[in-house]
Amino acid sequence: MEYKNFIHGEWVGAKSKEKFENRNPANWDEVVGLFPRSGSEDVDEAVASAEAAFKKWRLVPAPKRAEIIFRAGEILRKNKEEIARDMTREMGKVLQETRGDTQEGIDTAYYAAGEGRRMFGDTAPAELPNKFAMSVRQPIGVCGIISPWNFPMAIPTWKIFPALVCGNSVVFKPASDTPLTAVKFVEVLAEAGLPAGVINLVHGTGSGVGTPLIEHPKVKLISFTGSSAVGRQIASFCGKTLKRVSLELGGKNAQIVMDDANLELAVEGALWGAFGTTGQRCTATSRIILHEKIKDRFLSMFLERVGKLKLGNGLDSSVDVGPLVNKAQREQIHSYVEIGKKDGAKLVAGGRAYEEGDCKKGWFYEPTVFDEVLPKMRIAQEEIFGPVVSVLKAGNLSQAIELLNDSSYGLSSSIYTNNVNSAFAAIRDIEAGITYVNGPTIGAEVHLPFGGVKDTGNGHRESGPAVLDVFTEWKSVYVDFSGRLQKAQIDNVAIE
Ligand code: NAP
Ligand code: MG
Repeated sequence: MEYKNFIHGEWVGAKSKEKFENRNPANWDEVVGLFPRSGSEDVDEAVASAEAAFKKWRLVPAPKRAEIIFRAGEILRKNKEEIARDMTREMGKVLQETRGDTQEGIDTAYYAAGEGRRMFGDTAPAELPNKFAMSVRQPIGVCGIISPWNFPMAIPTWKIFPALVCGNSVVFKPASDTPLTAVKFVEVLAEAGLPAGVINLVHGTGSGVGTPLIEHPKVKLISFTGSSAVGRQIASFCGKTLKRVSLELGGKNAQIVMDDANLELAVEGALWGAFGTTGQRCTATSRIILHEKIKDRFLSMFLERVGKLKLGNGLDSSVDVGPLVNKAQREQIHSYVEIGKKDGAKLVAGGRAYEEGDCKKGWFYEPTVFDEVLPKMRIAQEEIFGPVVSVLKAGNLSQAIELLNDSSYGLSSSIYTNNVNSAFAAIRDIEAGITYVNGPTIGAEVHLPFGGVKDTGNGHRESGPAVLDVFTEWKSVYVDFSGRLQKAQIDNVAIE
């Protein structure tokens, strides 16, 4: 099957006519599709298309824009199963999770559509008589959206639905590993009745499409989710050119388990947090910090469950853990396992590529656990982005929080405790954008802000009402109906 770019409401190939393959990571013999390998000339066309469409789209009343987003949600709901199956084929995570990923897109559509009738500004009393003051949100223009492969529907919808409801137009560059889900999403937007040019899709690599998109002077905003390394490059370019930029980057999330916790629940949480999406979530549990009194008991319960996880093709409903997304990802994970061993951590589960039975032709890796990890070891500090979890030990709550905070990242976090005082102290003291009490680090809801502190981002949030601040500019409006020149701060009104 061959797929195209979407520019000015038409499906078109790359100008170069070049293509790239998308293969199934659970079976690399299966080609999922062929996609255009686009370049800067395709980006130029897409930006011109978005710029022209923006002029009209910004004038469509927000509640009317929202009706199209709502319809897109309805179509996503209708197509959910088909989208989820295609997503599993192209990036590997199990069907239950690709359904969840699609559901997140549906939830975001309904939430963003509601914003069409809210998008509130403020009215405020003016300091001078016969004068009215208010603030309104205004769209920004052409938005460049660059997304990763691990949430191929959820992340693009988090960005694109709010961008559109706010009145912006979009050029979307999806990850090279998940172009099919991007096509399915853009098809939905077109079917929902989005005018030509308001959404444009350009497939290709980070350097071939991402860079020209970021550097295009007519692109007024970049919203990027991906690695901190690429995020830094984007931020420095946008810093120099004063381009607006929202960054959602890496994580090194930890789950604390206190000695008063429900251990069965904490084990369930750690299992889901560490090995859901094969550990390839920005919010994945990458460190488990155990109170020394329960450490041995927790670890033996945890390892028993880890040993029972079933690896395989995510379309098989008995499978718990799918493959990694590609070869480079598997090599990277394995290199971290070697680093962990060399640095003196104790490998207690996994640590190898998994090549049994049907898994021979996929990028599978055994769920891996390191015990006796010290805080300064690289496996405790660097994002691995795979099914590898490090176990650390703490003597009390403040030590546990100190260990958790000893990271350059600050996305998600979790504490298992039945002590309300410990829970609230953790909520206050943990340095992260998300804190769970008695739940795993993964699994955000779309009506709350999503994002992190420290190297995880640049202070913006997606989801919830906070995302409106990314995709709109504030305008303060003063209406003077006094019929004379009134000077703020100078014509002070005397009270008689
Ligand atoms: P990545 O390599 O940074 O890629 C992300 C996106 O940027 C892809 O579309 C990629 O294109 C593109 N890209 C790569 N180099 C670029 C460049 N020089 N200029 C412009 N665009 C460029 O990240 P990834 O490996 O796909 O995703 C994993 C990372 O994303 C992890 O660090 C994870 O923590 C992070 N993540 C964060 C969140 C969050 O919300 N905080 C959510 C999910 C993932 P290609 O695919 O063509 O290379
Ligand atoms: Mg693929």
